Amino acid sequence: MIKTEATPKLTRNEGLKANDPMLAGTIVQTLADPAKERFSEDDYEFLKFHGIYQQDDRDKRKIGKQFIFMIRGRLPGGALSPSVYLGFDQLCGLYGNNTLRITTRQGFQFHGVAKGHLGPFMKGLNDAMATTLAACGDVNRNVMAAPTPATSPLVDEIQRQAKTVSDALLPKTCAYHQIWVEGTELKLTDEDAHFVDPLYGKTYLPRKFKVAFAIPPLNDIDVFTNDCGFIAILEDGKLAGYNLLAGGGMGMSHGNAQTYPRLADVIGFIRPEQLIDATKGVVTVHRDFGDRTNRKHARLKYVIAERGVPWFRQELEARLGFKLDEPKPYKFTHQGDVYGWQKQFDGNLFLGLFVENGRIKDEGALRLKAGLRRVVEQFKPNLRLTPSQNILLVDVPPDQRDGITRVLAEHGVPVENQASIIRRASIACPALPTCGLALAESERTMPEVLNRIEALLAELGLQEEEIIIRMTGCPNGCARPYTAELSLVGRAPGKYQLYVGGNQSGTRLGQLFQESVKTDNIANELRPWLSRFARERLGSERFGDFCQRVLLKETKPGTAPNDESATAA
Ligand code: SF4
Repeated sequence: MIKTEATPKLTRNEGLKANDPMLAGTIVQTLADPAKERFSEDDYEFLKFHGIYQQDDRDKRKIGKQFIFMIRGRLPGGALSPSVYLGFDQLCGLYGNNTLRITTRQGFQFHGVAKGHLGPFMKGLNDAMATTLAACGDVNRNVMAAPTPATSPLVDEIQRQAKTVSDALLPKTCAYHQIWVEGTELKLTDEDAHFVDPLYGKTYLPRKFKVAFAIPPLNDIDVFTNDCGFIAILEDGKLAGYNLLAGGGMGMSHGNAQTYPRLADVIGFIRPEQLIDATKGVVTVHRDFGDRTNRKHARLKYVIAERGVPWFRQELEARLGFKLDEPKPYKFTHQGDVYGWQKQFDGNLFLGLFVENGRIKDEGALRLKAGLRRVVEQFKPNLRLTPSQNILLVDVPPDQRDGITRVLAEHGVPVENQASIIRRASIACPALPTCGLALAESERTMPEVLNRIEALLAELGLQEEEIIIRMTGCPNGCARPYTAELSLVGRAPGKYQLYVGGNQSGTRLGQLFQESVKTDNIANELRPWLSRFARERLGSERFGDFCQRVLLKETKPGTAPNDESATAA
């Protein structure tokens, strides 16, 4: 093709994918060369499709870059069998930093894997019947689904549907299997040389794609933050179908007005048998219309925001060959997890365990990792990871309840009063030292920030008040900060943007309220607003609703509301 003035310049990633749709790069050669401590810039991009991020320990940069790897497991609906869990537990001890990190998309991340351990780690993970394929990269990511068995008799069915969708959207390249499962040199045939993925095409998606399933009234999934969402609709106690959502996403960049967080639109209603076709239809609209010239702008949300919902619906229907029905009524009332022992619909029990910032580890008297391992070895419960970074032991026969409680207690893990109300409703992303995009701390700083906020709430008589608080190390939004009632978004070392005004049901975006707050000053900044909340709230009004009704109307971003206690702090 002759390049003209009008020909848009595609991003570097587009060329990489087009030249190597098998996504193999030179991964095999670098793996086999012990003298190479890192992969090339091109392979860095290909590795993502295999669920691997090349990182370096940013705490150690002063003495030079030390390359380590983050590996992300793909677990649709966050579901794990006991054997898969034990495999993960063993691998992070052998090759990682001996912690398991629950992600906000119900996956596991392993941090701190050395290059020399990548092969055995990936082989071990696949031997445990798990995979990392397409956990990252310009493809569909881990499919989320409501995990909590107490909320609806449909949970198991929706979990199965999430797995079916996940499988249907996997890329078909054989490179992953050859490199990591067989552990052999790539043996590509002539046919492989002309490989084109049947769904994604030669250049895959312009960027990532996220799918999630929610079951009203609980929006534990934050379904509106996904590229494609499904709201299960029950009629006469059975699954009638789904309201299809499209165009949500959290990520944005500081100082770039072309980027912003957006909630998905409700597009129409589909029957269960239309689920796979509908999902693929949404994927292909992103594939064909997403921006391949600017990766920061390459999400489906911008296509829909700029072309409009009627256009999107028409385009989708043309691809599907059928008309969508009108959306059915639904109502979300809340989000978050339930903790402690609870009854399932089938008579079994499940146990909700709080995991601070999603990090399963042994620290001091709280030996969560060892306790969970003992419980899973002895009682073999199924497990589910939640979007709020907690873990559920599910399908537990009632006669195992006391034994599990005892084993956990022996490891310092309580099943009641597990954490304060604020901590239970909080999420933080990993950020420093591993995430290459982090501008500020998140996971490591969040516990101390919450300590200070808890002390302030207690002083104001608000210690029993749930406020959904989230923190991220940059504006990419991995911990879904923009739907929280209060969130801190990293902008520079020790400095955060402050957003307020999301709601309990995850159906409203918060708004930027303070452009830059120092870590040590967060509680002081909050003091006047929380003081007014304590005095002026209407009945049981929540903080996010109060911010929308009062603070965001009265106060311009960057200024504190009029309150004498602001200066006293
Ligand atoms: Fe990294 Fe930013 Fe995601 Fe946090 S939000 S994990 S800092 S990319």
